[in-house]
Amino acid sequence: MVFEHIERYGDHEQIVFFHEPSVNLKGIIAIHSTTLGPALGGCRMWPYASEKEALVDVLKLSRGMTYKAAAAGLEQGGGKSVIIYDPKNKTPELFKAFGRFINSLNGAYITAEDVGTSVEDMRYIRESTPFVTGLPEKLGGSGDPSPFTAQSTLVGMKAAVAHKLKQNSLKDLKVAIQGMGHVGVYLAKYLLEEGCQLSISDIFEKKVLQFKEKHPQVKIVHHEKIYDEECDVFSPCALGAVINPKTLKRLKCSIIAGAANNQLDTSETEDIIRERSILYAPDFVINAGGVISVFVESKGRYSKEEVQDRISNIYNVLKEIFSISEKDGKNATDVAIDIADKRIKEKC
Ligand code: NAD
Repeated sequence: MVFEHIERYGDHEQIVFFHEPSVNLKGIIAIHSTTLGPALGGCRMWPYASEKEALVDVLKLSRGMTYKAAAAGLEQGGGKSVIIYDPKNKTPELFKAFGRFINSLNGAYITAEDVGTSVEDMRYIRESTPFVTGLPEKLGGSGDPSPFTAQSTLVGMKAAVAHKLKQNSLKDLKVAIQGMGHVGVYLAKYLLEEGCQLSISDIFEKKVLQFKEKHPQVKIVHHEKIYDEECDVFSPCALGAVINPKTLKRLKCSIIAGAANNQLDTSETEDIIRERSILYAPDFVINAGGVISVFVESKGRYSKEEVQDRISNIYNVLKEIFSISEKDGKNATDVAIDIADKRIKEKC
């Protein structure tokens, strides 16, 4: 059963299952590729319904990290880890134990934040291993990667708008954001600065109400109704697989451009997206800002200028992807994977 999944979700170099019952630590590290450099990718903590669900998630996410790093031009491989646990109950001891497992891999895998883990958690991991990024700024780290992910999402949205709507400004465009978490809130602020009209949603009402209190011009939409919102850009910034044949029927947008990983339920869904003349910005390209920031941190000397230059370049990468996709009649994700694969093969 385990090997069936491993075969199905890509040719990973190494998959490590770890368990430390004394601190309730149970999880998986998946190293997909170290061809371009150490496998860097965040640690997701989630109360997965089953071990199979956790395994499939880490396999897909780690493969995505390889493509993400390669498409963004980073000298870095792809990996990811998942911890099967409810983040509400996390403890410093759990992260220190996790750090010891990471350390045993001698730098083949470097971790960072993801859903359910924070900058503070990285500090505890650092007590057991140097192979951790996204550390607090006071410890010389780059801090929370979310604002950088939001920046690359903004840059990518501009590339999509330039390609599809033939305009260089986002002013007055309607954007619907699904998920007002770490990334969603930063993205919403940046979009308001650009003069966009925003509709926002989250499963936790408190999050949208808090944002509206500071920015009364935004429209709150119930999280089950966000797919029906008339908009120029639909921006998934919550969890994966939200774009599927059912939700696609409801979308009233020209562009899908958001930060969430694995937005499409299956690759076939992108065929329907193209049939509907919606422009889709491949998730692993547009949301690379966070990984760019932790990559620069992992090299030892953090340079904000380098991070900004690399994030700005996502505009050109996406414009190239959209042009090839249109010219060759291929899905944008396939074009992005071709670009990433080419870089990896050149290094082999
Ligand atoms: P987060 O957990 O802080 O935020 C996610 C938000 O989505 C939460 O507020 C949650 O309540 C909400 N949500 C969940 N299901 C929803 C639904 N059905 N409808 C509306 N809202 C819903 O996570 P984050 O760090 O903001 O990341 C968001 C997404 O971006 C994730 O898919 C993550 O993997 C991806 N991503 C994040 C980063 C980063 O730097 N944080 C980097 C790359 C990719």
